Amino acid sequence: MDEENSPSWMDESEMPVSSWDRSSQEDSAEPEVLISAIEHYSYCPRQCALIHVEQIYEENVFTVRGTLVHERVHSEENTPLRGVPVVRSMPLWSSALRLRGKADLVELGPEGPYPVEYKSGRRRGQHADLQLCAQALCLEEMFDVPVSLGAVYYFATRSRQEVGFDEPLRQRTRQAIEQVRSLLVNNALPPPCNDARCRNCSLKEACLPDVLQNRARLRGFQGALFRVWDRDQPGAEPDIEEG
Ligand code: SF4
Repeated sequence: MDEENSPSWMDESEMPVSSWDRSSQEDSAEPEVLISAIEHYSYCPRQCALIHVEQIYEENVFTVRGTLVHERVHSEENTPLRGVPVVRSMPLWSSALRLRGKADLVELGPEGPYPVEYKSGRRRGQHADLQLCAQALCLEEMFDVPVSLGAVYYFATRSRQEVGFDEPLRQRTRQAIEQVRSLLVNNALPPPCNDARCRNCSLKEACLPDVLQNRARLRGFQGALFRVWDRDQPGAEPDIEEG
């Protein structure tokens, strides 16, 4: 973005995009939280832990669609939208919250930064709102200006939902950040939710939500793991219920 297009609240000479202080981050005992982890946690704490603690990631049709949407948004030029200057794929951070990530797009209008998050599906609950609010908290710290509004664009419905960053949403976002950090500090893996959320979850195979909820079946698997059996002896096969 050239200087003559920059809004009055932004001093171009102090654009903070390159001022991420990694050395101070590495010195601290508190682990950083990735902004994307907040949406994962809001959807399912176990999913968040599988990805960010266990480093497990699996693709399914929904994650591939999401990747394609983000590649498309990030690859376009930073040309103004409806006359408003924009920055795509903007690095974000908050030293105060030990938070780091990226905004799909930030509109730099006269009222201040306005983050826009793109989702390939349709709106399901407030998970994306928390992620967007975390982006707003970073932008406020980076530019030292208030950020009161942003938007989530849902490709499935071609609709843009404006989100107001009121105090209850800010509190829920800060709470989610600390809950994610607690998972990281404690290497914790919460129990499975084993409900409708699992149907479209790409981590179902790694998570095994129905097996873990069925204690009798789980005990059968655990017992079979350490049982020695002779395949030549009739009836010696482990007694495991088929799933
Ligand atoms: S399969 Fe269900 S419990 Fe497991 S991570 Fe996915 S949503 Fe969470």
